[in-house]
Amino acid sequence: MKLILLGPPAAGKGTQAELIAEKYSLAHISTGDMLRAEIASGTELGLAAKTIIDRGDLVPDDIINAMVATRILADDCANGFLLDGYPRTIPQAEALMEAADIEAVIDIEVDPESIIARVSKRRVCPVCGHTQSVEKGEAEICEKCGAELIQRADDTEERMRHRLEVYAASTAPLIDFYQERDLIVPIDGGKTIPEVSEQIFDFIDGKFFPEDSENE
Ligand code: AMP
Repeated sequence: MKLILLGPPAAGKGTQAELIAEKYSLAHISTGDMLRAEIASGTELGLAAKTIIDRGDLVPDDIINAMVATRILADDCANGFLLDGYPRTIPQAEALMEAADIEAVIDIEVDPESIIARVSKRRVCPVCGHTQSVEKGEAEICEKCGAELIQRADDTEERMRHRLEVYAASTAPLIDFYQERDLIVPIDGGKTIPEVSEQIFDFIDGKFFPEDSENE
């Protein structure tokens, strides 16, 4: 199973990717997480990427393409993988076509104003990378590992507005790119986390396990 999760920033791609990867034993490949790991390790790539990421711009295609081309050859991808946050441009999608046969592109749709409303509540765990939403006054503790949550530097309203512009200009054209290849699966991302998962699981079960789905 070789899948892409597409959608604007803060659409819930990371959250859904964790759930899908666990249910179907797929490798979860988040280019954002890979870049943040480079930053945390203080590598040359991390240092170069940090300024770009904090601004809300995109890291150059050749760097990202090389990173993903290597990553999808790792042993844990043998049963399939789920790309989260990649591709983000047409040249990335073209490079990916050379590297792998993608079977479906799950497009999580959320309108921009809901995303702006979500971002002020979004927190990430600096220890395990888990992302969660916190309400005002609620303890900002990771529900997975108990560490204190932080807000990403690129998760302010101003940066998010810029990231949404970058998404509209560079990433949204991928919807037509994959539509032309008959791969797009639209998912309503405005619902609750379990409701969004259910739509995605129904699609995956129907496409990849049709006999099991019929027997249910
Ligand atoms: P994410 O965690 O997916 O929201 O990614 C955080 C940031 O990492 C993005 O805003 C970009 O600056 C950078 N990034 C992640 N994936 C890509 C990609 N496929 N192409 C270019 N930049 C990326």
